[in-house]
Amino acid sequence: MIHIAIIGSGPSGCYITDMLAKKLPESQVDLFERLPTPFGLVRAGVAPDHQHTKNITRQFERTLSRENVRFVGNVHIGTDVSYAELKKHYHIIVFASGAPIDRKLGIPGESLEGVYGSGEFSRWYNGHPDNANLNPLISENIAVIGNGNVALDILRVLSKDVEQLRKSDISQNALDKISNANIKNIYIIGRRGAEDVNFTPMELQEVMSQSNLTFHIDTSNIPELPPEYIQEERLRNTAKNLEIFHNTKTQVSTADTRSINIHFLFNRPISTIQGDTSQVSSIEFTRNNATSSLSANSKNLISLNVGTVISAIGYTSTPIPNVPFNNNNGMFEHQNSCIESDVYAVGWCKRGANGVIPSNRTDAVTLSKDIIADLENTVPLPHKEGFSCISTLLDERNIKSVSYNDWQVINKAEIDRAITGKPREKITTVSKMLNLLN
Ligand SMILES: Cc1cc2nc3c(=O)[nH]c(=O)nc-3n(C[C@H](O)[C@H](O)[C@H](O)COP(=O)(O)OP(=O)(O)OC[C@H]3O[C@@H](n4cnc5c(N)ncnc54)[C@H](O)[C@@H]3O)c2cc1C
Repeated sequence: MIHIAIIGSGPSGCYITDMLAKKLPESQVDLFERLPTPFGLVRAGVAPDHQHTKNITRQFERTLSRENVRFVGNVHIGTDVSYAELKKHYHIIVFASGAPIDRKLGIPGESLEGVYGSGEFSRWYNGHPDNANLNPLISENIAVIGNGNVALDILRVLSKDVEQLRKSDISQNALDKISNANIKNIYIIGRRGAEDVNFTPMELQEVMSQSNLTFHIDTSNIPELPPEYIQEERLRNTAKNLEIFHNTKTQVSTADTRSINIHFLFNRPISTIQGDTSQVSSIEFTRNNATSSLSANSKNLISLNVGTVISAIGYTSTPIPNVPFNNNNGMFEHQNSCIESDVYAVGWCKRGANGVIPSNRTDAVTLSKDIIADLENTVPLPHKEGFSCISTLLDERNIKSVSYNDWQVINKAEIDRAITGKPREKITTVSKMLNLLN
């Protein structure tokens, strides 16, 4: 019997589990997850109104219910079970632990209250136990820093018609806070130009189609066509994005519900976040093609009054004690996915926080082939005990692991407690989830 441990049940963990369990039917694949719930960012990152994207979990459910796969939730590798213990009891270890740490802007004022990373912000509206209780919407004016799809997700969730959000699996706490917030302005701020955004046109168009929004875009500084330096693979998206910016009229919303002003501000490198006592009150950025609606001070900086700042500028991984880690790029140290003999990495903890869900499948396909080739070169395999020894350790440490059947109990409870129209109402504390299992 080959004992395989996968750490992390997001897309990359689920894909590699599926491939190894299928190709090595004589193996036992144990999928460790620090939360009682599986699926990583599909559950806690992907925007709640994008249920079509979250539907990939149906496929992952089939993986988790395979005969030679064991889901081991509520077990934090590196804290509850050490790397050395895993190495002792498993033939193969694969880290698929993602990149949950928000990158810092690295500017003064970043630690003020009211400044959030997009990771924690999206965990808030997705009901992740780590951030479910945030209270981020205390101001009429919100700044979102960054020009990628996550920034667009945040913009869309904050400004979407609340009746539509009610049909999503947004956490009740976030839904209540968004419905009661008096948001007037959302500024989406990029340090480079509109020609350099990383939005995908479909996501951009989705935002631009919301009828309750009034858009403010200074098209006089936006080129009609992609500049020459734009690389071939980005040309199509860039051209389409520029077309969308030019075709979106600075329209005044006619909707009688929430009407929110959306300001796209380009070429605005943010330099400082300022606050009254401990709370954010404004941000400053370098004057660069300033528009008249913003006030410039004597240092040639533009100042904007905002009470919430959300930075969406990327993520790094969390180190695990004694697992080689590269502090410069924030990922595990590896050579072609191999961290050390019989230990591998896949997904965002290996490649960095880049790529959509299917990119992790491609990554897992390559890795599964490499692992199988490496296994063929290491015969005979030493005898190892796998989960039976880990289970003893967990009992000794009084840690209740969550099985696939347990997850089904939590899953059913979430579906049962949802009000009409919502696919589920997430349970947002680990203790409440575990209480269901007693
Ligand atoms: C806000 C946001 C929105 C996104 N929206 C989309 C989208 O709409 N469409 C799309 O295709 N892609 C989207 N993506 C990208 C997609 O989510 C990633 O490509 C994918 O989730 C990366 O998969 P992963 O398995 O490497 O990491 P993750 O999904 O982060 O999974 C890592 C898992 O490991 C667990 N873990 C971490 N450390 C430990 C440990 N020590 N012990 C045990 N378990 C551990 C975590 O709890 C987590 O479950 C989005 C990303 C973000 C951040």
